[in-house]
Amino acid sequence: MTRTPNPDRRQQLVAIDGPVASGKTAVGRALAQRLGWKLFDTGIMYRAATWQALRKGVHLDEEDSVADLIRESKFQLSPQPGTDSVEMDVFVDGDDATPHLRRPEVESGVPTVAAIAGVRVLMVQIQQEQAAQGCMIVVGRDIGTVVLPDAPVKMFLDASEEVRARRRAAEQNGGADEASVLRATRRRDARDRGREASPLTVAADAIRLDTSELTLEEAIDAAETIVRERIPETAEEEATRTTQSR
Ligand code: C5P
Repeated sequence: MTRTPNPDRRQQLVAIDGPVASGKTAVGRALAQRLGWKLFDTGIMYRAATWQALRKGVHLDEEDSVADLIRESKFQLSPQPGTDSVEMDVFVDGDDATPHLRRPEVESGVPTVAAIAGVRVLMVQIQQEQAAQGCMIVVGRDIGTVVLPDAPVKMFLDASEEVRARRRAAEQNGGADEASVLRATRRRDARDRGREASPLTVAADAIRLDTSELTLEEAIDAAETIVRERIPETAEEEATRTTQSR
């Protein structure tokens, strides 16, 4: 029996949520590469909004002023240059925010900006417009619950606090000690889970994947199996590729 391929690219969406350093971006990036899709890491938008507020000198605790600024600012996403990249760069008022997104002041300020309801409404709207292109892995904190409640595949990645802190410390080129990274990770997670506007929670229909005991490769394989089982077209594309390469 041959299945009719689903012509609706909008159905080809995977939502991945999870706390800091749960592996969601690394898994999402590899999945996008394997499926030939794009990765949309929505964290870059909240980071770009934070960078914009900081460079414009708006105090992050002044919720209305931050929301007004973000409403007046122009956010644009564009595919990262380079044929192999599946990621996107974010521009604010025409300036590339990408080199500034991992700065310490952005890292510490982003949960404050992300907790402002007026900012989230604007960000969610842009994210939904972007995801409407389909064939996309969308990664964040509220993707399965708020941004794409109808996504055909939702995953929630998690790992123990210690494992996540170890990963984060390793990412920072061994320059950070694990105990202070653990404290910072706890702080950011607590704020993301405890905020009133779209807190980090597991969508009722999300598949939980605990990556504590998995290598990155194992986590990617597990996530790929989940996607191919639930979006049959991806399995067909795979079958076609395998047949052609024989
Ligand atoms: O994923 P990343 O660490 O880049 O996200 C940075 C911050 O942006 C998170 O700690 C969270 O406060 C916020 N965020 C969010 N909703 C999303 C993505 C990120 O609130 N969908």
